[in-house]
Amino acid sequence: MDDILKGKKAALIDMDGVIYDSMKYHAKAWELMMAEAGIPCTAEDVYINEGMTGPALINLLSQRAFGHGVSKERANELYGLKTKYFRQVGRNEPMPGTDRMLKALECMGIRRVLVTGSSQSTLIDNINNDYPNAFIPGDKVTANDVTKGKPDPEPYLKGLAIAGVKPEEAFVIENAPLGVRAGKAAGLFTIAVTTGPIPREAFEKEGADIIFPSMPDFADYLTTLCRDKVSE
Ligand code: CA
Repeated sequence: MDDILKGKKAALIDMDGVIYDSMKYHAKAWELMMAEAGIPCTAEDVYINEGMTGPALINLLSQRAFGHGVSKERANELYGLKTKYFRQVGRNEPMPGTDRMLKALECMGIRRVLVTGSSQSTLIDNINNDYPNAFIPGDKVTANDVTKGKPDPEPYLKGLAIAGVKPEEAFVIENAPLGVRAGKAAGLFTIAVTTGPIPREAFEKEGADIIFPSMPDFADYLTTLCRDKVSE
């Protein structure tokens, strides 16, 4: 079997749609908040722009509807409201297959670093309960650590610095086209896992190096790879 992870020492792992099956709840929270704000927003808008910071998405959709963005204060206020709705409608629901995926990486001695554009503490603070020992404390980059969110490479460059490895020794695990763009812009081998409604073509367009159709499929691949390595 082809070892796509030959020479890799660190995995930079996205959270929403990878660690947690949370995108459906984010979409719901966005729709509730934007309806209240009077800015047209569909679940599809949320999925296709996933990875962008909250205020950036508010500005993008306001621009699309009215030809202008909103003030920084208004964007922060609206994003705060979205965060509140997410707390109400969201669950920290682990993505099926991710536990096996993380364990297979551990089995291969690959360090795991969380790289998320989110600042949603209801999820970030629960990772160690839901995935004990999957991440070393401090091995994480969140929205609070960066000035530019995805698709800018900054979050992944910071993750790389935390792991302390060369770009060719790390890889990205993403579920969103803009996340793939960020990973590629950081010069990293980028694995896309289609865990939501976005078609495969969107990930091909962003230059994903390999695309898995589901998290259980990716976990199966890694588990086999790990077995091969152990028996070598
Ligand atoms: Ca994601």
